[in-house]
Amino acid sequence: MSIQTIAVTLPDGTIREVPSGTTPLDIANSISPRLAAASVVARLTPVTETTKEANPHDEEPAEAAMYAAGDSTAPRLVDLSTPLTADTKLELVTEKDPEALKVVRHSAAHVLATAVLELFPETKLGHGPATDSGFFYDFYREKPFTPEDLVLIEAKMAEVIARDEKFVHDAEPREQALAEFERDGDFMKTHFVTKFTVPGDEVSFYRNGKFADFCRGPHVPSTGRVKAVKLTALAGAYWLGDEKNPQLQRIHGTAFFSKKDLDAHFARLEELAKRDHRLLGKQLDLFSIQELAGPGLIFWHPKGALIRKVMEDWMREECLRRGYSLVFTPHVAKVNLWQTSGHEGFYAANMFTPMELDDGNYRMKPMNCPFHILIYKNSPKSYRDLPVRLAELGNVYRYERSGTMHGLLRVRGFTQDDAHIFCMPSQIEDEVVACIDFAEAVLKTFGFKEFKVELSTWDPNDREHYAGSDANWELASNGLKHALDRKGIPYKVIPGEAAFYGPKIDFKLVDVLGRLWQLSTVQFDFNLPARFEMEYVGEDGEKHQPVMVHRALFGSVERFFGVLIEHYAGAFPLWLAPVQVGLVPISERHHDYARKVEKELKAAGLRVEIDERNEKMNGKIRDFANQKTPYILVFGDKEQEAGAASVRTRAKGDQGSMPLADFIAKAKSLVETQSMEL
Ligand SMILES: [Zn+2]
Ligand SMILES: [Zn+2]
Repeated sequence: MSIQTIAVTLPDGTIREVPSGTTPLDIANSISPRLAAASVVARLTPVTETTKEANPHDEEPAEAAMYAAGDSTAPRLVDLSTPLTADTKLELVTEKDPEALKVVRHSAAHVLATAVLELFPETKLGHGPATDSGFFYDFYREKPFTPEDLVLIEAKMAEVIARDEKFVHDAEPREQALAEFERDGDFMKTHFVTKFTVPGDEVSFYRNGKFADFCRGPHVPSTGRVKAVKLTALAGAYWLGDEKNPQLQRIHGTAFFSKKDLDAHFARLEELAKRDHRLLGKQLDLFSIQELAGPGLIFWHPKGALIRKVMEDWMREECLRRGYSLVFTPHVAKVNLWQTSGHEGFYAANMFTPMELDDGNYRMKPMNCPFHILIYKNSPKSYRDLPVRLAELGNVYRYERSGTMHGLLRVRGFTQDDAHIFCMPSQIEDEVVACIDFAEAVLKTFGFKEFKVELSTWDPNDREHYAGSDANWELASNGLKHALDRKGIPYKVIPGEAAFYGPKIDFKLVDVLGRLWQLSTVQFDFNLPARFEMEYVGEDGEKHQPVMVHRALFGSVERFFGVLIEHYAGAFPLWLAPVQVGLVPISERHHDYARKVEKELKAAGLRVEIDERNEKMNGKIRDFANQKTPYILVFGDKEQEAGAASVRTRAKGDQGSMPLADFIAKAKSLVETQSMEL
């Protein structure tokens, strides 16, 4: 009998002929022992006539992914100890691969279950998948776990890890496995085996030491590879989400390949919590959401409203400077308008339901576009009038399911800094360049250094899903491309991601924690000009349809404000801060001088608050500091005599004494230049 050989293709294209049964670990070792030690699992892509590309959108639900057999032609992860029996492409997955993190986290869930059974042998096991930020395991035990138990379990997990037990893959006939689970009263395991396997199947197990779990894998080679693990929470949940069922104990945790990564993870969580705009919104008294009024509706308090005023003033001034006309339009309109625009069809589910009045049904507006079109259409237009650029900070209302709202980020009522540009095809490129300039100005002015740009285009092979002529799509897509190229901005083209009515550019800003936020959009529309039969008289005396561009730069004022709060952790730059200067008279005999200073600062256009309470100086300074006030001026006898102020800045603390006139000149210039400095 001859030994069969198989061909294993490595990522660099080299092909290794090896005996069938060779494992990925053997291959790793033959390349270098260091690579073998660094590898976690292997990624196999079967070599077949029609290798199907993995579809990134087609994510399996966590449960099925754990137990069910996957698509046999898609790349899959396997244990380093899995014998290879057919020709395959092979990639060794090291700790740097994001998918490796999921493997170590799921392996940590096995370690958790091992520890729980050693400490509390009466416990029944549910399942323990990896999640985006860690893992959990569901347990059933008559006596619920306590936080003290969690400490014991974590210590036991450390022992299991120190034992460095190999994860060994094993299989058993389904009927035998079911009989064993039923005998032991493992009702959850019985459920999973019944649900995800069929009679005649073999059931896949992983063992480490005496512990075994029903699971498809893959796993890290041994428990010792779970190097940094922490249990994070204990929660109750009903089995299968049904309150008639027994209550389970879900233990959450997270795992990383190093203590350093684990520590960085918790430091980041702490930082995120500190920056949460809902928390800061309360602390700094910026906004609220009122139960009595309903979820997703924002109440701007005086300090938040002041920041909003500064944002909006800046935006309106810039619009005027850049050739836009400002308009205001109503919050509601007859259903007839939404029928003409088409919103009544494809967008109806996102709208508030109609209000019945004596002359017909009305709906809150989900978008401003049809209103701006009506203004355009109110008088005949010729090529000499174009481009028409109409801008509005328009309030729109969209239906979000109750329970899905999130602070300022996901709401039912918000304000778009919306504009619509109506132009001739020949004007497209210049208009798009101007939009990009404007978007850049917004992001830079509000303190974002980095952004990413995506260009969404159509899929010409899917012609019937798009409105507008081929020529228009060509023109608009090229207009967007050329504009980005002219600006020298790097961008990613995403074919097939355009809306049915036109291609678009999205700007995603990168905040101080490296998070991406989708805010500004420049979007073409071939649909609405046709539906509203928009036209202009061209140079040729004939009627033509204008090209329409929607663009929003803040996106939503509410959402942008939420992002600003988190980006700055509430410590706004001077020009945005609701109170720019806090005044602290040391004692009552300095009140008159403090009031005189207050007057002068206000006359210079600065926003000032004076603390005349009968409190200790340090207490007053602390209160202003807690409000993240950029400047605090302290006045005692010395300052009063010299016509000066003792200046403290938010970032640098005590800066010593400064003549008042100098301070005013400095603060004014920082505000005027929208500086980030103090
Ligand atoms: Zn497993
Ligand atoms: Zn629009």
